[in-house]
Parts: sequence; structure tokens; C-alpha cells
Amino acid sequence: MISRIDLRGSLPGDLRSVLPRAELDVEAALEKVRPICEDVRHRGDAAVREYTQAFDGVELERTRVPAAEIQRALADLDPAVRDALEEAIRRTRLVHHDQRRVDTTTKVVPGGTVTERWVPVGRVGLYVPGGKAVYPSSVVMNVVPAQEAGVGSLAVTSPAQKDFGGLPHPTILAACALLGVDEVYAAGGAQAVAMFAYGTEECPRADMVTGPGNIWVAAAKRLLKGVIGIDSEAGPTEIAILADGTADPVHVAADLISQAEHDTLAAAVLVTDSTELADAVETELAAQVARTKHTERITEALAGRQSGVVLVDGVEDGLKVVDAYAAEHLEIQTADAHAVAARVRNAGAIFIGAHAPVSLGDYLAGSNHVLPTGGCACHSSGLSVQSFLRGIHVVDYDEAALADATARVVALAEAEDLPAHGAALKARFKWEIPS
Ligand code: NAD
Repeated sequence: MISRIDLRGSLPGDLRSVLPRAELDVEAALEKVRPICEDVRHRGDAAVREYTQAFDGVELERTRVPAAEIQRALADLDPAVRDALEEAIRRTRLVHHDQRRVDTTTKVVPGGTVTERWVPVGRVGLYVPGGKAVYPSSVVMNVVPAQEAGVGSLAVTSPAQKDFGGLPHPTILAACALLGVDEVYAAGGAQAVAMFAYGTEECPRADMVTGPGNIWVAAAKRLLKGVIGIDSEAGPTEIAILADGTADPVHVAADLISQAEHDTLAAAVLVTDSTELADAVETELAAQVARTKHTERITEALAGRQSGVVLVDGVEDGLKVVDAYAAEHLEIQTADAHAVAARVRNAGAIFIGAHAPVSLGDYLAGSNHVLPTGGCACHSSGLSVQSFLRGIHVVDYDEAALADATARVVALAEAEDLPAHGAALKARFKWEIPS
């Protein structure tokens, strides 16, 4: 069901090349989404609706969801789900509230200061996936940091659902209502990203689009980056587990399966120095997959080249492997898990020990679940308040401080053969710099 990669002996120099990873053909997907995005750019709402019909099988008259439908979804929401969503919002808000930035002013010289002023993005479009699964949790993960950052205009989009009269899934609408979001669109895939990037009659253009999605969403974000700001590429989900012989194979298998459940392209990777654990996990995988609901999807994800069990000589080598892999989610299930976790450098989020499974982070830990995938965790972070802020440098020098800087500015300007730069300062003082 899951392949093994044996790296015992010595680790190869280019570790990344031997580790399991989805061969996501984003280049091919880019070619597929390019005409979709161009079409939305030129024909707006009509094109969005046509692609919704083609990919989601729903014919819509309007893409924007009426406010009454959002409120109705909240009224009809199962009380247990409402309670869970409210608690998820509360915990996520606690964490993200603490991420807010304060402006800093640095006195560089007497009379000269630079202030970094944090300003929220004006308008953001938040993508909530809804193809194979529906993700009301992603509404919370997108909306809460944007709200805590102070974003003034927020719109949510999620694919139209055939089974729900062409609206996004009712639990998604109810989550929007709980968060006070009243601008919601029934659109998914590349056409939704293009709708935010170019704007349509129904949906004013946004400055930024964030949120996870499948390969088509990731490709559209990559294609339109620049036309619109994006967060990191949060594509098909990944879990890596670094475990030793102390880990419980039942938990390890359950956690691998929990993420394989997202997508046939989802990745589940176990890195261990214990062949006993590897054997026991494989036995558990077979037993648990047979009992779970989405057996086919999970089996395909576990059998795919993106998933595998990697055998290493010890936790030390295991750390090198997980750093090279740079997983979206990394669980540490070893002896002294806190100390091992403290040494990890590359991961979207780290889950320590037996009582912090990734599923907790997916919903209720308070952390964000929109995280970088495909190895991007070596240079990018998950969604946070910071994602929605821009730091603007405000420069404030008085006359004496500028006069004091002039000779050095002129020297650097002349070294760069840009004398007009120096002249801009000299013009203020009516004096010549001695050559
Ligand atoms: P989705 O909303 O991302 O995609 C559905 C849309 O894809 C449809 O509306 C349709 O317009 C478009 N589409 C479908 N087939 C297409 C085709 N052949 N050509 C062009 N467009 C097409 O929903 P999903 O498919 O369920 O995927 C959700 C993804 O989000 C999963 O891969 C999951 O792992 C991932 N996810 C990632 C994170 C993260 O933080 N990295 C978090 C949650 C979910």
C-alpha cells in the first residue's frame, strides 16, 4: 500500500531528490488555467458562470450569494457544529490577535527617524476549497487573520455545490455568518482566483487572494501573482511524521490516513529508525484504511509516489530528512519530542508528541491550517496576520540631519553614476560639494 525508501547506511548528498514527493505538473496546469483566467479577464461574470457550469455542473444566474442564504445557513446549522466552529474561531482569534504588529520608530540620527507603519491590505479575496471535501474550517483560517490584521473589505469564494442549489456548502455559508462576512461568491478553481484578480461586475477586484486549494487553484495563483498578491502556494496537503520505536503505530497510521483523506494527491510520509514501527504502521494502515469512509481516495494517496516510509539510521538522520522534505505538517513522535522538535528548521507547522495530531491543528488548536506545501516551507510561512499587512517605511529628517547626510549621499550617487540623485540634495542647500 505504501512504498519504502531505505536510507540506512549513508544519506545521499541531494536528499530532496530521493524523497517521496508528488510530481505535481503545475506547468501543465498553468497551460490549462491560462485561457480560463484570460477569459474571465475579458468576459467577467459570464465566463465565471460558464466555467462553474463546466467544472461544477451548476448553472447560475448570479455568482454572489444573497445575504438571506448566508443567514439561513446559520439558522439551519447543527448546534454541535456551531459550537465547534465558535470554539475554533475563539481559539484561532486568540493566537492571531497576538500576532498583530506595532509600529516601530527608530531614531537613526538626531533629527532623523524611520518609522515602520503596518498597514492592512485594502481588499482581500479568500478562497475556501470545496471540490472533494468542504472546508468550513478554511473560512475560519482565512477570515480570522484578515480581520485581526484590520483588512477593511473581505470577500469569500467557494465552489458552487450541485447538491445545494448551486450555493457553496451551507456549513461554509454558516461559518461566514458566524464571522460576520456577508460578501460570498459561489465560484471555485482558477476562475475564482481570476475573478478576484481582474474584478467582474459582481465582484470588485481584490488586492490579494489567499487560501488553500487543488492544483488548479495553485496554478492560477502562480499565474496571476503580480496582478494580485498571493499567500504561499498551499496545494495538496502533506504530513510527515518523524517517529522512533517509542511511537504508537495505531496513532501514526491514523494520522497518516487523516491527511491522505484530503486528496488523491495528498502526501503521507513516515520517517523512522525503527523497522518494527514501520512494519506495525504498515499493518495498521491496511486495517484502518479498510474501515474508513474514503478508502479509495486514501489508498490512492498512500500508494502514490508522493507517499512513503523512509528508513534512517537514527533520529539525527531523521532530522536531516525532514528538514530536506520541508513538510507542510510535521509530527514529532519520538522520545524527548520537545528537544527534537526544537531542532527542526523547515516545516509549515510542527506537532509535538502523542497529544498533538495534525487533525487538531486542522480545526481547533488555534494555529493556522493554511500552510506552505511542496517544499515551500523552507522559504515561506503559513497564513497569519502578517500575510495581510504591509510595512511602510516613513522617513522623517529635519534640515540639519539632511545637511549632515548630503556629502555621503553625493559620494554614493556619484559612485553609482547617478549624479542627479546627489543634485536633489544639493539643491536644498545652495552649496556645492567640494570635488
Ligand atoms: P478546490 O476548491 O480546491 O477545487 C475545486 C475546483 O477545481 C472546482 O470548483 C473546479 O472549478 C476546479 N476544477 C476541477 N477540475 C478541474 C479541471 N479539470 N480543470 C480546471 N479546473 C478544475 O477543492 P478540492 O479539489 O477539494 O481541493 C482542495 C485541496 O485543498 C486539497 O488538495 C487539499 O489537500 C487542499 N488543502 C490544503 C490546505 C493547505 O493549507 N495546504 C488546507 C486545506 C485543504
